[in-house]
Amino acid sequence: MIRKVSIFDMPKAWRVDLFWSRVGTYSLNECWPYLGCIDKHGYGHVSIRTPFGILWRAHRAAFYLATGVYPQGFLLHRCDNRLCCNPHHLWLGTNDDNMADMVSKGRQVKGGRAKNASLTDKQAEEIRRLWRFHCRHPWDIQTTQAALARRFQTGTGTICCVVNGRSYCE
Ligand SMILES: [Zn+2]
Repeated sequence: MIRKVSIFDMPKAWRVDLFWSRVGTYSLNECWPYLGCIDKHGYGHVSIRTPFGILWRAHRAAFYLATGVYPQGFLLHRCDNRLCCNPHHLWLGTNDDNMADMVSKGRQVKGGRAKNASLTDKQAEEIRRLWRFHCRHPWDIQTTQAALARRFQTGTGTICCVVNGRSYCE
């Protein structure tokens, strides 16, 4: 069942603008990466309030804001890029579709996510400092979680843990 919303049910315009300002938008064929906070599963982390509940993942919010269709079930990526918010790369699927999709992409046999390289306390402090900067300057692409992960040669999951204080606490 597809529930379509009217424009009046949409979040306020400035929130929509703020959301899209955190997405790198390119041509329709390219992936549009979410540049803000990344959750521990590697998806963009947002909270967009809708009449049907709160959307916590950037790609789900992107789909909702772009199409006006609330994603009831699974919202899958054609491009297998969890951060991608390009509505043209997203499709609504069932649980079976999701499993089939995972199997076809071999994700369930890969096991183990990006290894968590250990960071020193000093590096963790530096990451938190840069992230605080990013929160005030969300357009700065040098300090997104993905950029920090590359810079410190670790996974975005580790960066998210550090900035959210789930590990590496003094
Ligand atoms: Zn994509």
